Amino acid sequence: MTALVDACQALTEPWAEILPPDDDRQGYQVIEHKPRILMLADMIGSNSGRSTAGGSLAAERNLINSAAFDLWQKIDSQAKEALNLMGRNPHRELIDTLRLVGIEGDALRATNAMTEIAHSRLTGRVEKWRADIELLLDPPTKKEIIGACPGCGESRVYTPEGEMHALIAYYWPGKDLAADCHACGERWQGVDLLRALGSHLGAEADYVELRALGVG
Ligand SMILES: [Zn+2]
Repeated sequence: MTALVDACQALTEPWAEILPPDDDRQGYQVIEHKPRILMLADMIGSNSGRSTAGGSLAAERNLINSAAFDLWQKIDSQAKEALNLMGRNPHRELIDTLRLVGIEGDALRATNAMTEIAHSRLTGRVEKWRADIELLLDPPTKKEIIGACPGCGESRVYTPEGEMHALIAYYWPGKDLAADCHACGERWQGVDLLRALGSHLGAEADYVELRALGVG
């Protein structure tokens, strides 16, 4: 059984990031962060959505702020709903409500007052909140890929912002990468699938872009 309290603490407790030595720095570096739920709150309030792409436009910052606000609202209402179902009243502050969700949920599970299915569903939901926050904190760099989607054959899509390439690659340097087709929604996640996509696109692929991702 995965403890719900652990999933909640990933949102409510300070955490540390350990960076390995690199060219500029000897030894490991530890970076202390505030609780993720408070980092989300900061994103709503500030106008400085952290972007690895750099040079963020005002429009893009607003997009991040409103995405952070929507996520906050979602977590707030779902956490309150979970506590109400447990017969407990939420706290005034969301961070305290989340702590209570973890403690109460595990306690109810331990006495079989909550089913295993309900418990693991709630744990999965809290883990998804964390993943959603991390996506906002560390947005991927985006690159358009020239070529037709193997799934639907489209190479371009039309959006309210204008025409763009259907295939867009996303990457988090040194961590993960993925590509989406914005016409049909198909997704390629990870180096192997991206490679398969690249070889399918063949001569028509934008190999410069794919190679920039370490895939070409
Ligand atoms: Zn497609």
